[in-house]
Amino acid sequence: MRKQEEYEDIVIVGAGISGLATALALQRKGIRSIVLERSETLRATGAGISIYLNGWHALDHLGVGNQLRAKSTPINEIHGEWVYNDDTEVIPISKEGLRCVKRSDLIEALANSLPAESIRFGCQIVAIETDPVTSFPIVHTADGCIMRTKILIGCDGSNSIVASSLGLKPANLFQTREVRGYTSYPNGHGLSNHFLHLKGDKLFVGRIPVDENLVFWFVDQEFHPKDLETRRDPILIRDRTLEAVKDCPKEVIEMVKHCDLSSLSLTRIRYRAPWHLALKNLCKGTMTVAGDAMHQMDPSIGQGGCTALEDAVVLARSLSREMSVIQSERKISDQEIQNRAEVALRRYTSERKWRILILSTKSFLIGSLFGASWLKRFTFLTLFSTFFGGRFGHTQYNCGHL
Ligand SMILES: Cc1cc2nc3c(=O)[nH]c(=O)nc-3n(C[C@H](O)[C@H](O)[C@H](O)COP(=O)(O)OP(=O)(O)OC[C@H]3O[C@@H](n4cnc5c(N)ncnc54)[C@H](O)[C@@H]3O)c2cc1C
Repeated sequence: MRKQEEYEDIVIVGAGISGLATALALQRKGIRSIVLERSETLRATGAGISIYLNGWHALDHLGVGNQLRAKSTPINEIHGEWVYNDDTEVIPISKEGLRCVKRSDLIEALANSLPAESIRFGCQIVAIETDPVTSFPIVHTADGCIMRTKILIGCDGSNSIVASSLGLKPANLFQTREVRGYTSYPNGHGLSNHFLHLKGDKLFVGRIPVDENLVFWFVDQEFHPKDLETRRDPILIRDRTLEAVKDCPKEVIEMVKHCDLSSLSLTRIRYRAPWHLALKNLCKGTMTVAGDAMHQMDPSIGQGGCTALEDAVVLARSLSREMSVIQSERKISDQEIQNRAEVALRRYTSERKWRILILSTKSFLIGSLFGASWLKRFTFLTLFSTFFGGRFGHTQYNCGHL
């Protein structure tokens, strides 16, 4: 039986932050695309997400910044504290420099701004090939369909099938894992607008208010093989996290004890090595990647999602310079379409490469510090301040208008 064949100008694989933001950025530029998502619904694993100034710039360019600000509290400071002593380090955050939003709010804000028919659920890409005649990508879905396209954008996260078609290896594993969740305080949490960083022995706890009733928190520890079993059961995740925070202040223990079990997740941390990003081509023909598919990074600097939003703006801006011709009524040859699309994707990847390299290196260095010796920490922190503009310099970046 002949397989069902379809055609779309631009196919985006994955309806996470990156895929939805890319589709929205393209739509804002008047360019049609379709997002293919293997899940049956939108997913927002991980409870909350910290969005720094650079991410807010991108959200504003996408036109959804204000609706998300209305659902989140501005954070003014980071309070660095230690479990075993009373020292506190206060790091001010620039005005509107940080807010934590619910992942579901972010995903919905992006998805609801798109026409419903532009996201197709239950559609898993299982293979990618290049048309031997036109050199355009052809994707094969798990249900046996074939989709021909002019441009293929992989926003399919870690283990991206598009990234592997570009020759990128799967992301590496750190020896760290993170538990994330919410705790809801119906009568108000009463916390000031600060992001708590609580450091212990091979333990890092973060707590950040989303609004006056909801707090997002995470607990980082070294990965243990029993986590593979723990992560399937929210009660086990909570109980083992309670064990981990037993020496923390009482309000932190209470926060974990009374968490929303349905919000809990336990994730092993992955990263794409910066040297790998530096050496590989991030586009091939009319195929490229964005978000975690390109640059999965340690969450210590809270930049994976923010950078995915930047990618979306830069990619749409670059494509729009060529696509207005491609999607116009004027008949143009496949060869011209291909040339223009390749120019746009090369411009996108070269604009992103340095930014991504710096952030990936920064997050890799910080990620490697977890549980490291004093000497290793000192060396890395010196490198850090010398070459990377301090801890938050990267958040002052604006990816520019669409
Ligand atoms: C513990 C942790 C904490 C974090 N904290 C922050 C933070 O505070 N701030 C921040 O900015 N970032 C943070 N990040 C990073 C951020 O979560 C990610 O960078 C971001 O979610 C990546 O989005 P994405 O769309 O690229 O990938 P994903 O969210 O992984 O989405 C990929 C989508 O593609 C779909 N898909 C995959 N393969 C296929 C296929 N073959 N066919 C069809 N669909 C497919 C998947 O189902 C999924 O929906 C954190 C990450 C972790 C792990």
